[in-house]
Amino acid sequence: MSHSVRILPADRTIRVGGNESVLEAALREGFGFPYSCRNGSCGACFGELLEGTIAYPNGPPAVLGEADEAAKLAVFCQARPTSDLVVRAEEITQTRAQVVRTMPVRVERIDDLASDVKRLWLRLPPNERMQYLAGQYVDVVLRDGRRRSFSIASAPRSDSLLELHVRLSPGGRFTGYVFEALRARDLLRIEGPLGTFFLRDSPLPAILVAGGTGFAPLKAIVEEQMAQGGGRELHLFWGARSTGDLYLHELAESWCDAGVLRYTPVLSEPGADAWEGVTGWVHAAVLASYPQLAGYEVYMCGPPAMINAARRDFATAGLARERLHFDAFDYAEDNSGNR
Ligand SMILES: Cc1cc2nc3c(=O)[nH]c(=O)nc-3n(C[C@H](O)[C@H](O)[C@H](O)COP(=O)(O)OP(=O)(O)OC[C@H]3O[C@@H](n4cnc5c(N)ncnc54)[C@H](O)[C@@H]3O)c2cc1C
Repeated sequence: MSHSVRILPADRTIRVGGNESVLEAALREGFGFPYSCRNGSCGACFGELLEGTIAYPNGPPAVLGEADEAAKLAVFCQARPTSDLVVRAEEITQTRAQVVRTMPVRVERIDDLASDVKRLWLRLPPNERMQYLAGQYVDVVLRDGRRRSFSIASAPRSDSLLELHVRLSPGGRFTGYVFEALRARDLLRIEGPLGTFFLRDSPLPAILVAGGTGFAPLKAIVEEQMAQGGGRELHLFWGARSTGDLYLHELAESWCDAGVLRYTPVLSEPGADAWEGVTGWVHAAVLASYPQLAGYEVYMCGPPAMINAARRDFATAGLARERLHFDAFDYAEDNSGNR
């Protein structure tokens, strides 16, 4: 049985089919809903349930805390309506004209960036372009239809090559294949552009927070800002374990030297490294510099544990929910149809 869902403040009404999540129906009907992981673990698709009832067929999503439920927040990539609904959610208009497509890409080159990070350069088919926003991601579609998500690290205006930064997940099926078997000239299949992580139009200073390969989409955002002539006040924090994990440290320093942004690298396990910089957790370093976040926007990408800790602590420091944008680098649920 289908239900109607009225989305405020855009005041758009969509039909959600019996087996669909609110997010799936919204994307199908061309409503730009915010989303990232699509498996209920990141919280990027949070919205307010104003009227009606929902169910979570796979159980309440892990990301939904007691305070979120008390605030009537719902995780719309998992929520199935059990009545007609009225909800409040941000409308993303910038992705409205995008066409999500699947296409073959050829591996042009593979670079070693760190012991467990490789950079893939993927060439699109001749005469093909992907119209994406800096910060978005693609899914690599495996032979059996399963998907693995990777952020695009290059700014949209760089020709027909896409740059990805791939960290090896121990025991990981796709990343293991990248490290052991993938070679230049091999073919992969990708689908994109996906997600709603990109720099919003705002006069507020933006704090960019990367954990590990979470640097990738922020690199695209910074390079796009540079190409557009900059102007936005940016401060990049990059958290990693040790110096070797800051795999493009010189590049970030060069942005800083050119006056594009402020840059604070943060190491959690400097060990024997000669390191006189900031140590500890990257989100704690942000709070040490910005104890009050009310006048800022924050864009962050990286491991789910970093995102969850930062979401909680940044809210306490006064950051409004609608000014926090993130992609949590979650593992894929092995569900081939899940977009
Ligand atoms: C929007 C988005 C963007 C991303 N961008 C990037 C990027 O730019 N660069 C990058 O390096 N990564 C990125 N990731 C993460 C990346 O998608 C995963 O690392 C990748 O899917 C792992 O694939 P795999 O087949 O190698 O691992 P899998 O075979 O899926 O699993 C790897 C290992 O982790 C275990 N595992 C599986 N699920 C979980 C779980 N829920 N919790 C803990 N362990 C688990 C498995 O048992 C296995 O041992 C992104 C993720 C998302 C959602």
